[in-house]
Amino acid sequence: MTSQPAKKLLILPGDGIGPEVMQEVRHIIAWLEAKRGLSFAITEDLVGGASLAQYGEPIRDDVIEQARAADAVLFGSVGDPRWNHVGFEKRPELAILKLRQELALFANLRPAKVFDALVDASTLKPDVVRGLDIMIVRETVGGIYFGNPRGIETLADGSKRGINTEVYTTSEIERVARVAFDLARKRSNRVCSVEKCNVMESGLLWKEVVTDLHAREYADVELTHMLADNCAMQLVRNPRQFDVLVTGNLFGDLLSDLASMLTGSLGMLPSATLGAADSAGKCPALYEPIHGSAPDIAGQGIANPIAQILSFAMLLRYSFDYQAEAQLIEEAVAAVLANGLRTADIMSEGKTRVSTSEMGAAIVNELDKAQA
Ligand code: NAD
Repeated sequence: MTSQPAKKLLILPGDGIGPEVMQEVRHIIAWLEAKRGLSFAITEDLVGGASLAQYGEPIRDDVIEQARAADAVLFGSVGDPRWNHVGFEKRPELAILKLRQELALFANLRPAKVFDALVDASTLKPDVVRGLDIMIVRETVGGIYFGNPRGIETLADGSKRGINTEVYTTSEIERVARVAFDLARKRSNRVCSVEKCNVMESGLLWKEVVTDLHAREYADVELTHMLADNCAMQLVRNPRQFDVLVTGNLFGDLLSDLASMLTGSLGMLPSATLGAADSAGKCPALYEPIHGSAPDIAGQGIANPIAQILSFAMLLRYSFDYQAEAQLIEEAVAAVLANGLRTADIMSEGKTRVSTSEMGAAIVNELDKAQA
């Protein structure tokens, strides 16, 4: 049993399947409070289309303030086709963009883990992905998506030129590399830093800064370097060689999507976005499944709640340092899958199809068994 002050948790279920899958997390929270003695001070609010309907805006300043005050934010997903007609400044999706911006969340963490029971769901051969467990750390507020100069200009001959600029500073590289090294220490203690130092000065600086930081503060962690194009190839050829990968915004965007598809299913994948720690060591953090609000299946009780539940397990592990409880949840998910239970998105022949709430209940049941 753990007995610590209540952790402040802000829950933002959002739209579509968000509230349905979040309901299953609430059951797990109730279980942790009842059976593990954990205590959560929970606030909940509306974001996305749900907030637009109630308040006329996708996220209120008050919700941003609640997110700042919380120890961690658990986000569902936003997006509702009923708001397709509104301008970009009122889209439901602005809720998540604004949260990331306001909390200065600069490091996106995407695990790609293959559960034994789902090894056949990958498009790669089972032998290549069995046991896969990697973490991609992507820098999200710098690099070519934000660098200046940028724009489209008209040249003297009337033709046009599109410009974007890849820019990284020492401190931007150091802070995201620190996240990667700290994560590696909680995993298999290996970091691979990815850039294109052979053709880009920003990549050269990236490599130098990561190497210096490693020598100064993280010599106990194994560090390797890889060119981004080779990394894309290696992720498909032999993904298990990696533990933690750290890279910039553009390469991370591509490589994290590639890595997540190694596991075969959108409904299974959690993510986290972290900001810089303040002087008291508190680090803003938001956890969410990588899938969206899935309006095509919303309200039918068939969504897979596992990505949302695993996002909560990440939150327990990385924001609250409840390692044992995070592991219990991950093992309960693995056990339910091993028992052959499947929501529609991961259904295959010979398995038992279950609803969202049946999947959630089965995971709680496995937690009970593990605790007995
Ligand atoms: P999506 O991830 O919502 O859905 C893609 C497909 O995967 C759909 O067929 C859906 O039914 C299925 N799917 C997704 N999650 C599932 C789950 N848990 N269980 C079973 N099946 C699942 O992507 P989309 O259709 O491109 O986008 C829908 C809306 O979500 C859009 O408004 C988009 O902007 C928004 N979106 C939001 C976020 C976010 O909140 N961070 C992320 C991505 C998309």
